[in-house]
Parts: sequence; structure tokens; C-alpha cells
Amino acid sequence: MHLIPTQEEIVTLLRETGALRDGHFRYPNGMHSNEYMQMPLAMRQSQHLRLMSVGLSRKLRANPEIRAIVPELSIVAPATAGLPVAYGVCEAIKAKQVYWGERENDDEPLRFRQYLLPEPGEPVVLVDDILRSGTKLSELKKLLEANGAVVVGLAVVLYQPTPNTFDFGNLPFYYLAKLDASYYRDTAACELCQAGMPLEKVWV
Ligand SMILES: [Zn+2]
Repeated sequence: MHLIPTQEEIVTLLRETGALRDGHFRYPNGMHSNEYMQMPLAMRQSQHLRLMSVGLSRKLRANPEIRAIVPELSIVAPATAGLPVAYGVCEAIKAKQVYWGERENDDEPLRFRQYLLPEPGEPVVLVDDILRSGTKLSELKKLLEANGAVVVGLAVVLYQPTPNTFDFGNLPFYYLAKLDASYYRDTAACELCQAGMPLEKVWV
């Protein structure tokens, strides 16, 4: 393995651990797809987490503007899936600290824990295991900016864009592997449904 694992190495690892699954899946928003990712399956082994975190930290370090502010940098993740990667990246890049945004129920806005707020002007890299719709990461970015932080980058292990993925504009964006799954709006538009393939509902 190289210090920055290749797309093929990451995809192989995700398939071997069962994190990346082929089939016919229905997301809670009604979309159907031929691929599904459940990253915690790959994160069960700490050496996998280390490999991914070190790879991402090296990509971040290659950005001179981020490298220059590493000692001041906060790594912020959406709980809970982003937390292992966030701590892994923080340790590998030697950033200042980690914290996270969370919510108790799906219909509540993201928030930080009580008494935890960014410093004015605090530079932040957003980290997560996967970028799919980007809904939660965009909400976390807004929450940070509303509290005075400056988001300087976004890093995820896997980029799996959908037709509705949030556009982060010119924010520096890093990922280790990109998967182009097929997405279908609903049952009527789904080729896998038409082929009579059994459908599995996924929770997130
Ligand atoms: Zn379908």
C-alpha cells in the first residue's frame, strides 16, 4: 500500500469488508440504487481506519494553505459516522482538535454540545466517511459559519455523488475514492425494479 491508497485499493478494501454492497437498494428518500455503502463495516479494523485517515491527511497536507494553518485547525464531523475518520485525520495531520455536530432526532437541526462553540475565525476542515447527498455536511458548514468559524476544506473517504448532491462551490474537496452508482428517482424509473430484482430497504 502507498501512503495515499489508490482508488482501486480503497474499493477492494470496501468490498472485502462488506462495506460496499452490490444489489438493489431503496433509500429513505425513495431513490433506488445498485450500490450501497455501510462504512462502519470497513471501520471495524483499526488498520483500515488508519490507512484511510493517513491517506486523507496527506491529501489535505498537499494543500499549502491548509498545511500552513494545521496547528490551528479544527476537524469537525457529523456524528456519529464521521467521528472515527475525524479523529484519525486529526492525529495523522496533527491538527488542534476534533468536535462534532449532532442531533437527537431526525427532525431537529444539527447542534454542538452545550458550551462547545468555535472561536471567531477558527479554521475548520469538515470530515466524514462518505459524501452522498451532502445534506448533513452542508448543514454542518452553515452551523459552523453562523458561529464564526471559517471552513477551509472538506475531506471524505468515499465520494458517491447522486443527482441531488449539494454543491460546495470552490471549497477544496478531497476524497480517496469515487463511486458512480446508478440512481433511479423511484420505482417507476428503476431498471432494477423492471428486471424484477429483489429490493432491500436501507436505513440511511
Ligand atoms: Zn428499484
